Amino acid sequence: MPGFEFFGDKERKEVQDVLDSGVLMRYGFDGMRNGHWKAEQLESALAKRMQVQHAHLVSSGTAALTVALASAGVGAGDEVIMPTFTFVASFESILALGAVPVLVDIDETLTLNPSAVEKAITPRTKVVMPVHMCGSMANLDALKVICDRHGLLLLEDACQAIGGSYKGKPLGSIGDLGCFSFDYVKTITCGEGGAIITNNKDYYENAHKYSDHGHDHIGKDRGAEQHPFLGYNFRISEMNAAVGLAQLSRLDEFLSIQKRNYSILRDALSQIPEIVFRSVPDGGEENYSFLSFFLPSEEKAQKAHKALGENGVDACFYWYNNNWHYYKKWEHLTQLKSLGQLPKEVKESLPDYSKADFSESDHWMGRTISCLVKLGWTEAEVADRAQRMVEAIKKVL
Ligand SMILES: *Cc1c(COP(=O)(O)O)cnc(C)c1O
Repeated sequence: MPGFEFFGDKERKEVQDVLDSGVLMRYGFDGMRNGHWKAEQLESALAKRMQVQHAHLVSSGTAALTVALASAGVGAGDEVIMPTFTFVASFESILALGAVPVLVDIDETLTLNPSAVEKAITPRTKVVMPVHMCGSMANLDALKVICDRHGLLLLEDACQAIGGSYKGKPLGSIGDLGCFSFDYVKTITCGEGGAIITNNKDYYENAHKYSDHGHDHIGKDRGAEQHPFLGYNFRISEMNAAVGLAQLSRLDEFLSIQKRNYSILRDALSQIPEIVFRSVPDGGEENYSFLSFFLPSEEKAQKAHKALGENGVDACFYWYNNNWHYYKKWEHLTQLKSLGQLPKEVKESLPDYSKADFSESDHWMGRTISCLVKLGWTEAEVADRAQRMVEAIKKVL
């Protein structure tokens, strides 16, 4: 997955432009910039690549989720449906706005289960937030039908799935809003950075204002700008955007390497009849950043995970025990550990997750292993790795 494996001349040139002009900020300083507007250029390039009207860059993927929710008017007491398997940023962004994260089971796609989503809807639900974990997507048609029926927004967290698609459309472009992360370990990176994409002009207008203290960005003089509403600072810097501009131009190259490496590993594991691969909805194409599969039982999955490590196969994850990605270890959320008081709306409405039944999620996650697909491997290295994986897993089975 990581774009950082391949920094080169393109990244250096883009960053050098910024250093030469000395303008590290994305707004203003027109006379000093030598015509360089890296954040704006990256926004245009991203909107084009994702086939949407608007893209807005921010300082991280977490910021992108927060700004996306805020841009659509989500606030205190609104409920946002999110999966049990994700990254902690999902509930952090929701809580940052005083909204309530409502956790819902995943299914064999390792993303939101549409029928569990439908059961969790209340009069306060505003948003359904599928998270396209490990490079593949939820059943977006089913989620869209539910959102349309109940008047809810669909916000795609495509932070781990840039370049994947669903029925011919780029992931992130299908919902009302889509978010990407360009942090250091994602498929393409800015060092730190994120983006919101949308076809909704109002959400876009709100997003660029909100992420820059509410500035209206009208006219040339920042000091004279108006503030139609309260905002915050989630700006990206020109340095980060410059790196991302080079990386986005290499996205398709990275994806084809990922797909090649993924296919070699998958073909090898396909020889083992007990292994079942993570389900990809009809019409979906992964971005191939991870190869995820199910073992026949939780016990076998734990043993296989251990055996992979012992046989020299690094970067395979057993998410079930992972404290960033799976609800079981989110003590800070379930016990409401915050530095200050949480908003009353959150304390009163947050479900008691210590008593929640997520046995369907446990059923899938307990048996899942996900292996990172790296870009820098040679074909011979991938073939060797594939063989070690097969050996390790066969021994356990
Ligand atoms: C990385 C990630 C984020 C957050 O991105 P940051 O840029 O690290 O803040 C959000 N959601 C998912 C699924 C991620 O993998």
